[in-house]
Amino acid sequence: MAARGIKVAKFGGTSMGSAEAMRRVISVVRRPQRDARIAAVIVSAMSGVTDQLIKIAVLASKKDFSYKELLAALETRHLDTVEKLVSERNQAKARVEIEKMFRYLSEAVQGIRLMRDLSPQTLDYIMSYGERLSAHLLTEAMNDQGVAAEYLNARKIIVTNGHFGAASVDFKATNIATQKYFRTHKKLQIVTGFIGASPDKKTTTLGRGGSDYSAAIVGAALGARVIEIWTDVSGVYTADPRLVKNAKVVPELAFEEAGELAYFGAKVLHPKTILPAMREKIPVRVLNTFKPADKGTTIVSSFAERKVKSHTVEALTFKRPVIVIHLQSPEFFDVNGLMARIFEIFDGYRTSVDIVATSVAGVTLTIDSDKHLNEIVERLKKLGSVSVVRGKAIVCAVGGSVNVAGVAGKMFTALGKNNIAVELISQAASGISITFVVRERDAEKALKVLHKAYIS
Ligand code: ADP
Ligand code: ASP
Ligand code: MG
Repeated sequence: MAARGIKVAKFGGTSMGSAEAMRRVISVVRRPQRDARIAAVIVSAMSGVTDQLIKIAVLASKKDFSYKELLAALETRHLDTVEKLVSERNQAKARVEIEKMFRYLSEAVQGIRLMRDLSPQTLDYIMSYGERLSAHLLTEAMNDQGVAAEYLNARKIIVTNGHFGAASVDFKATNIATQKYFRTHKKLQIVTGFIGASPDKKTTTLGRGGSDYSAAIVGAALGARVIEIWTDVSGVYTADPRLVKNAKVVPELAFEEAGELAYFGAKVLHPKTILPAMREKIPVRVLNTFKPADKGTTIVSSFAERKVKSHTVEALTFKRPVIVIHLQSPEFFDVNGLMARIFEIFDGYRTSVDIVATSVAGVTLTIDSDKHLNEIVERLKKLGSVSVVRGKAIVCAVGGSVNVAGVAGKMFTALGKNNIAVELISQAASGISITFVVRERDAEKALKVLHKAYIS
């Protein structure tokens, strides 16, 4: 579509976490934008609010009345933010809207308490209040400060299936709805991240941390020049900066590298964010709301183009806990048919497999959720003997030439010297990553050892 010259900017929970933080968001949005006009700002709930909403819903479903205090505290936090952020002449209007939303929310929570029932559908509806409240608040604050902005509930533009908790996006319907909406709404749109609606208009959510994905969905639908992810760190680091003190910002990454990092645990980007951007070839920039002058990370180009510029190991991450499942079966002598049957079982329970290793006598694989573990194991037992080991982690090293001779050797020697046992090693032929399994308690140490060996 022809909406050239626009971009979308997403602000995460910390960036929306207080009146002071929201003031910074507004100042980022107001900066002169040289590259493109911001058409949409996608926001997360204020930090911690989604967790609180889940807690409130769960307590109510158990008839534990302490949910009332939590709900009151949430309301106070939002109203306090209005008071600090919106000037007196516009405060009453902003307050009325927030109070109205809390009345609806409170009714819904009472419903949960009375029914003692919390379905995934109801939980999605409850969680949606986090983003609806923050987006409303920011819209009021923007208007108060002379930025012409409008609130947009993403339910109107993001169409998903009815898989509550982690709904899949219908891109065709979403693109049509988004383009149509933006054709008739020219003001800056303040869009709720994280949420969408099913074709029968039920509120859905895209999975925890899903506001990044919302930004990519909207950016791709509008043919944005760039998708900006504004967060609380200055880009994608060589490792989680909270864990590795001398981690550094990686200035540029390929979509594939960023995708791999996000998938294997780097929380800075939701794993699905990359797909819509990659499909439309839209660069994604990760920037710091609190240090807007920092250059951040630009995620661009194909891995093939970047490979020549890249370091051997560009960044490291881990994912934990993961569960290792081993299946031993005489049928492995006819491996093809059996593998298909195994994957069908996991697929049937919407459980994705991260690493697979086969030998002539069996297959070993990892999953990161035990939601359907019992059912899966029961089904696998029909194929052979099954063992399950918990308490593991996957470590992932991403870079331009992780498959060059000697890299894996050096890596595993360094880990060995530190008494870290490694199993289930997997290396993509593209040379983009090496992943392997360690004990959960060794994951952090493995990250530090490899960071020292390869980065600094
Ligand atoms: P937001 O609320 O803005 O979406 P998140 O908390 O979801 O922010 O993601 C940002 C956090 O991701 C950072 O504060 C950092 O601790 C964590 N993180 C994990 N791995 C990385 C990494 N490789 N680079 C940058 N941040 C990372
Ligand atoms: N508020 C949602 C969450 O906490 C989505 C997001 O922050 O991206 O998961
Ligand atoms: Mg996030």
